[in-house]
Amino acid sequence: MTTCCKEFKIKSKIDISREKEKEKMSEIINVEELFASKVFTVAKMKERLPKNIFKEVKRIMDQGGELSLATADVVAKAMKDWAVENGATHYTHWFQPLTGITAEKHDAFVTHPDAEGKMIMEFSGKELIKGEPDASSFPSGGLRATFEARGYTAWDMTSPAFLKEDATGVILCIPTAFCSYKGEALDKKTPLLRSMEAISEQALRIVRLFGNTEATKVIPSVGAEQEYFLIDREKYLKRDDLIFTGRTLFGAPAPKGQELEDHYFGTIRERIGSYMKDLNIELWKLGVTAKTQHNEVAPAQHELAPIYETANIAVDHNQLIMETMKKVAGRHGMTCLLHEKPFAGVNGSGKHDNWSLNTDNGVNLLDPGDTPNANIQFLLVLACIMKAVDTHADLLRQSASDVGNDHRLGANEAPPAIISIFLGEQLEDVVKQLIETGAADHSIQGGTLQTGVSTLPDFEKDATDRNRTSPFAFTGNKFEFRMVGSSDSVADPNTTLNAIVAEAFCEAADILEKADNFELAVHDLIKQYMTEHQRIVFNGNGYSDEWVAEAARRGLPNIKSMVEASSALTTEKSIALFEKFGIFNRVELASREEILYETYSKTINIEALTMIEMAKKQILPAVMKYTKTLADTVIAVKEAGADASVQAQSLKNISEELVRANRALTTLEEKTAGAAAIADQKEKAFYFRNEVFFAMEALRIPVDTLETMVDKTAWPIPTYGELIFEV
Ligand code: ADP
Ligand code: MG
Repeated sequence: MTTCCKEFKIKSKIDISREKEKEKMSEIINVEELFASKVFTVAKMKERLPKNIFKEVKRIMDQGGELSLATADVVAKAMKDWAVENGATHYTHWFQPLTGITAEKHDAFVTHPDAEGKMIMEFSGKELIKGEPDASSFPSGGLRATFEARGYTAWDMTSPAFLKEDATGVILCIPTAFCSYKGEALDKKTPLLRSMEAISEQALRIVRLFGNTEATKVIPSVGAEQEYFLIDREKYLKRDDLIFTGRTLFGAPAPKGQELEDHYFGTIRERIGSYMKDLNIELWKLGVTAKTQHNEVAPAQHELAPIYETANIAVDHNQLIMETMKKVAGRHGMTCLLHEKPFAGVNGSGKHDNWSLNTDNGVNLLDPGDTPNANIQFLLVLACIMKAVDTHADLLRQSASDVGNDHRLGANEAPPAIISIFLGEQLEDVVKQLIETGAADHSIQGGTLQTGVSTLPDFEKDATDRNRTSPFAFTGNKFEFRMVGSSDSVADPNTTLNAIVAEAFCEAADILEKADNFELAVHDLIKQYMTEHQRIVFNGNGYSDEWVAEAARRGLPNIKSMVEASSALTTEKSIALFEKFGIFNRVELASREEILYETYSKTINIEALTMIEMAKKQILPAVMKYTKTLADTVIAVKEAGADASVQAQSLKNISEELVRANRALTTLEEKTAGAAAIADQKEKAFYFRNEVFFAMEALRIPVDTLETMVDKTAWPIPTYGELIFEV
């Protein structure tokens, strides 16, 4: 009787937990209801603002201009009421300093209590549109000395305010630009917004030439595909390199890597699946259109792609995606690594930046239609992009550099460090016709794809196959800039793209607006640009050695590292470009270059110090201890009268490798200390690249070899196998 009852009790407990689990799995997610529930959308503004105020706000959002303080007060109150109804206690001007991530300083809505001690939550128009966060410790490259540290944040009305919810509570976040007292940009958003205005103005001149009188602006659209790694948090916490640098500085390859290609698009495991589900929900609430999710090439690597949107919103949302990825991982006992190369020997992570241009009356300027040869506006746009990318290949390369990306670009997994354009068979053929004869009379068509199975339908093929190895690929109705690093903001690449294409449009419009015979002039110009810049087009395998040689013959730059790429910002060509469109002035560019050098040096310095610490305090001591065990074994086995030659040989080999490791460690220590004597930032960054970085690689080799020689239980940190296969 008792046993029966006990059994019954246990069963029912299991049943309950199973039911709960089932309930959780089948929980209906109402995406339409969830979507943007934490965003102060245009719809919410419309609902909460008096009609005339809403109209004024909307007009400024669409056409630019300044909000009057009286209007700002009304908007601020509506925004605060909505935020407070949703639990907010604080607001923050959310901005993007040159650290590449976001920054926030919270202010509670609390005000001074009245005589009776009652307090009313308030938020004024002034507080909404302008902030002065002090924020003097952000990198400014000499633009602000701390003693004259005024920096202002200003509301970017085109990117909606949203609520961030975490342990701090609920915070109303207002996307803002960040400028110095003198109006110099101290962030990534200001130049991006400036570049969007520039390209809009110049692209409008182009569409006007083709008779489009309706469009009032041209908007760059961006869709950034985000790659990331997920690893177990407990293992992460056992590795100082992951904690301090976001990547592994040591680690021998696991027996299995990505060679079977069984992870790419593979079935998503439960733990990862439940992470992805939570991530999507959080992002949807924030108004981010998380759309595509899949496993990537490397084990433990995944991707999320949102639907494209206006460039500045896409940039803000990419920041939210990265932040949310990290936050949600914690809840699932995992850590999300956004570094470009967390693990040697398997693929790193990038961020494909899909970019295109759309008029506000619905025309995608990069849409060739079915017969591109007859689409003159498209061909002119294409010719201008070829010119822009060829002329400013160095700048584009620079815009995609960060410290981590040095491990990827040109390393046979990511695009080479050489910029080229992939056009695909159809467009390449049209360009060829134009260059050879000055006219293109046909476009290659896709035809039908026959599956050879009677029950499967035959379907229309695209006219062009894909190319996975090009850094800048035409993909249907957009370009896909594939060089960008996974941890980097997409603001710089898009600012650069907008700027260089604006310049080409401007030059074309200058010529064509004056032409007596537009038809003739536009044909001549397309032919001229395509002929002059055809060297930038490459449709072959970008990962091959032949391409590196061929690119050198064509005179295309092959800039190998971030430090070498940085000076592209301050060439006379670059200064002229950015100053012409008011995106950066000479001083802002110089400060940005300076910050890049500083960032590089500081990052490598942290990596080197972490390596030294790990080698000195964890790895070498563990190996020494192991050699002692081996030595004891050798003696004991010998004493017992058995053959100890294997143990002795092992001891000898390990000890020799230990000597090599120790020598490399000493060199790395000396090189790292040597940097202190260098005052000039550029010189220092080159020193870190040419001396310290290579000394780090030299230390890694013997340490990784030791890992393969030492007893697994003696190794002090989780191995690659444990990190990327046991998630
Ligand atoms: P793939 O991995 O096959 O390249 P994904 O679906 O992962 O494709 O990502 C494609 C990205 O391109 C998405 O973010 C998508 O919204 C974006 N995209 C599509 N059309 C445009 C466009 N016109 N402008 C900018 N981005 C676009
Ligand atoms: Mg993708």
